[in-house]
Amino acid sequence: MATHMDAEEFRRQGHAVVDWIADYWSGLRDRPVTAQEPPGAIAARLPAAPPEQGENFEQILADLDTVVTPGLTHWQHPGFFGYFPANTSGPSVLGDLVSAGLGVQGMLWATGPACTEVETVMLDWLAQLLDLPARFRSTGPGGGVIQDSASSATLVATLAALHRAGGGDWRAQGVTRRYRVYTSTQGHSSIEKAARIAGLGDEGVRAVEVDELLALDPVALRTAITADQAAGVVPALVVATIGTTSTTAIDPLPAISQICREYGIWLHVDAAYAGAAAVCPELRHTHTGLEYADSYCFDPHKWLLTGFDCDAFWVADRAELVETLSVLPEYLRNAATESGAVLDYRDWQVPLGRRFRALKLWFVLRSYGVEGLRAHIRSGVELAAWFADQVRADERFELVAPHPFSLVCFRLRAGDESSAALLARLNATGRIYLTHTRVAGRYTLRLAVGSPLTRKEDVFDAWRLVSELADVADQADSDQL
Ligand SMILES: *Cc1c(COP(=O)(O)O)cnc(C)c1O
Repeated sequence: MATHMDAEEFRRQGHAVVDWIADYWSGLRDRPVTAQEPPGAIAARLPAAPPEQGENFEQILADLDTVVTPGLTHWQHPGFFGYFPANTSGPSVLGDLVSAGLGVQGMLWATGPACTEVETVMLDWLAQLLDLPARFRSTGPGGGVIQDSASSATLVATLAALHRAGGGDWRAQGVTRRYRVYTSTQGHSSIEKAARIAGLGDEGVRAVEVDELLALDPVALRTAITADQAAGVVPALVVATIGTTSTTAIDPLPAISQICREYGIWLHVDAAYAGAAAVCPELRHTHTGLEYADSYCFDPHKWLLTGFDCDAFWVADRAELVETLSVLPEYLRNAATESGAVLDYRDWQVPLGRRFRALKLWFVLRSYGVEGLRAHIRSGVELAAWFADQVRADERFELVAPHPFSLVCFRLRAGDESSAALLARLNATGRIYLTHTRVAGRYTLRLAVGSPLTRKEDVFDAWRLVSELADVADQADSDQL
């Protein structure tokens, strides 16, 4: 292709691409869940250099089947139970396609007003959908924005917290004092990463002990804060988690937010995976105590049918955030910004540029409606509960933690070797995919339900495989002796 793809050719090839995706989805069930290839095999199928002459599009599309799909972990597979889900859906893909087609760069309100205003309204819709505290709505002093990921939300919250704790010093001079970030021992790795990026180093993070349910212990938090203050360290940020990555533990927000208010510490609540559950009124108790948080985020790209990347991040006071991040060079000055009547989302995130991600949310929220989204969450919670019941009823196994959402943590009573052997055998079948964690040092299998294609039969099959292969794996610990 020596020239640009014209509109007619784009139409033809675009239809072919959509057909290809539809075929991929309908054939997923027949594929192994994970790639069966050794490292380097995929790269070896690619030429060493880019083509001198443009190739025809049919050939490019055909190579997806030979180069790419055999080398994938299929996250949308009905037997995918690993990590947390990373949902996508038809409406999300199509919304993203429109965004790609528009090619708008929405760094400022002025560079694409609809890109900003649709996003503001979608975040207000989501806040309603989750019944988040009123302070997060854009109609007051707060507001929401789409970040690429929960990790970026944590980083942005860390910077805003430093700005608050440093009283202006931090913005002018950087980290000239010792600041501290607190989270539980179960907090996500992105908190440490954010602290490093912010110049606080690993010692800038204190991992606070947890109780027997793996939730942050507020007494230990208070002790750590007062000890730090006495030593001249400035407490800057507490990151509480609703639904920890390892086991979906829920930190006690009422007690934590009380402490944060007493000491004037920024409270960020990370609900990356479990936030989606709050679309269901019967699961909102998991969010109790959120009304005093300074910021909150969850990932529609995990469990809410919206393709990566889409993290929804809210702040109670957007002025504090903008003050933290805003730098206004001459070439970005414009009348709309100067009027103060618009939001410029470049000031709410690390990069300057941003794409029109609100379109996929708009498509998803309208296509599913509140009822459809609730049905998706409820199905995950119910299927996980069913699986947990089987585990509980089988004396070879034990449940390792409560399962308030759609993640079940379990292990073989026989021991770590047996549990690890079971996981290896399960994943080697290619029919399902689970991952693991360690809880109190002990090897634990994690089964997270949430792929849109996963039905009851798939979870039944998963249990059948777990139960069958457990007998073989059970030998592993006795073989060790
Ligand atoms: C998955 C997860 C994250 C990181 O999510 P990204 O959006 O990929 O950055 C952060 N916190 C928790 C609790 C998570 O489960």
